[in-house]
Amino acid sequence: MTSAEHHPAPAEHVRRGRLFVLSGPSGVGKSTVLEHIKQAVPGLWYSVSATTRKPRPGERDGVNYFFRSGTEFAEMIGRGDLLEHASFADHFYGTPTGPVGERLAAGQDVLLEIEVQGARQVRRSSLGHEAVLIFLAPPSFDELARRLVGRGTEDDETVRARLDAARIELAAEGEFDHTVVNHDVRSAVTDLVSLMVEPRPDPVS
Ligand code: ADP
Ligand code: 5GP
Repeated sequence: MTSAEHHPAPAEHVRRGRLFVLSGPSGVGKSTVLEHIKQAVPGLWYSVSATTRKPRPGERDGVNYFFRSGTEFAEMIGRGDLLEHASFADHFYGTPTGPVGERLAAGQDVLLEIEVQGARQVRRSSLGHEAVLIFLAPPSFDELARRLVGRGTEDDETVRARLDAARIELAAEGEFDHTVVNHDVRSAVTDLVSLMVEPRPDPVS
């Protein structure tokens, strides 16, 4: 073992990770592209959110979400455990702060997949200056509706609520640093990955 391995670099020499926030209306394809991004960007850490919604078939606690009761979610807010949180289509969603801060401090890049109100909160948070906000947009509103209905995971009322929210979310696109249109999964993933692997200037020593 070399002496460098015995004595890791002092904390001030560890370059902080970058924080990527991927947002966009429900049904645009965020989860779909995310699965490809996880494979394509080694070392990128995906933050698992907490939510009060029920798991869909195949979703697992701690993998897709931390599925929590309303009371448990309120306790997380009360303890200040969430970097951001929002109410979306009758449920609460939030990002646990601790692991995000730890990964960034250790130099790892972090990805949050969250809706627009949460993205705004991240921008205003203490981590906002290092956040890169990316908006995933549908080719059209009709195509968004087709995808959301085609996914088949929500009842009609929930689809309507999500499409109502989508109109508001689409109007927020200009607040983001980058927009990627999800025409087809392959080119959207290519565009997203190129934003995430962009070289950074050397840190000032
Ligand atoms: P989100 O996570 O943004 O709610 P999903 O990833 O669940 O969206 O995608 C919603 C539906 O649209 C899924 O059935 C998915 O297979 C489909 N989809 C995703 N991207 C595309 C695309 N580029 N073209 C056609 N269908 C897509
Ligand atoms: P879904 O119920 O389809 O998994 O997610 C609904 C919406 O909540 C999506 O737009 C998704 O990006 C968003 N979302 C997921 N996790 C979080 C989170 O931690 N915070 C916020 N603000 N939104 C989230």
